[in-house]
Amino acid sequence: MHDASSFQGLFLATWSLASLVRGNHRHTSPRLIYTLLLGFAVTAAGRDPAESLLRQGTDLLDRGFFADSVAMLTHALEQNPKNAKACYYRALANEMVDRQAAIGDWRKFVELAATDPDSKEEATQAEERLQAFERMPGLPDSLRPSRYVPKAGDYYQRVAGPSLRLQWTEFPVKVFADSPPEEWRRALGEALDAWMNVFPLQTVSARERADIVLSWAKLPKRSMGTEQSFFRLQKEGDKIIKRRKTSSIVLDNSHRWSKREMRAAIMHEVGHALGIEGHSDGSRDVMFPQEVRTFVLTQGGEHTLSGAPLSTGINTKLTPRDVNTVIRLYNCPGPLVHLK
Ligand SMILES: [Zn+2]
Repeated sequence: MHDASSFQGLFLATWSLASLVRGNHRHTSPRLIYTLLLGFAVTAAGRDPAESLLRQGTDLLDRGFFADSVAMLTHALEQNPKNAKACYYRALANEMVDRQAAIGDWRKFVELAATDPDSKEEATQAEERLQAFERMPGLPDSLRPSRYVPKAGDYYQRVAGPSLRLQWTEFPVKVFADSPPEEWRRALGEALDAWMNVFPLQTVSARERADIVLSWAKLPKRSMGTEQSFFRLQKEGDKIIKRRKTSSIVLDNSHRWSKREMRAAIMHEVGHALGIEGHSDGSRDVMFPQEVRTFVLTQGGEHTLSGAPLSTGINTKLTPRDVNTVIRLYNCPGPLVHLK
């Protein structure tokens, strides 16, 4: 693509570079360096520096650098306030920076999309996100976006779809353990303490007051823990006025598990109860599913591998990825969808 602007950019860059090579650099003015950088930027962007800013902004968003993404996309919008794409991606990034700013961006995107018949679908999505924000509760400090650690990443995109509307809306979430067996008590205490560092949980002594109930029973072979969520809807006529979630965790007491296995199982099932539906792909995360593999030896000495995933975890420590994922689930009203 050799259009006028990239030639112009290339010319600026070449001219500036030539000035430097000639040995004028001791007298190089800041203005010359700026011209040089701008020349390269215009060349790299091809036609439009705003396009380059948009690309960098979406890349930062994909990598979890939300505040940097907002800054980059703000520059793109300064160049062209009617850039609907920049507005769309800044709305997504702002969901993890400043909720009010995200709502403002989504409203602006709906306005911009209204003038473009090809953006009907995206405008509907934006409206849905705006409605979802109305249902979302104010968040406790530990779940605020500022607690997200960008360089650690997350597995949000894997779990965001199935986890929709499974988040709690009132805090603290109350937990009741129904007659924990003696050998499980320590693991139970440690697992709940670990989660309490990142999520407002409170243990209660009456089952009726609990949001999450842990109990113990004999589970089918190879299963160590399960979690199920239930919703009770309170209606007035056809309108749902309240939606109450409860969660039930059942742990297996038919087998002697190690302390580590018990703690890992509780950590993992509580993660599901807190609204993570689905699993991590990172083998160190608490929400990584445990898989039991059975080796079957065949005649030639070769073995085949067979396995069935267990519904529980193997890791006992929350990773920054686990924590980041929970934070994002409580701040964003749905998966990040790229524009076509
Ligand atoms: Zn699981």
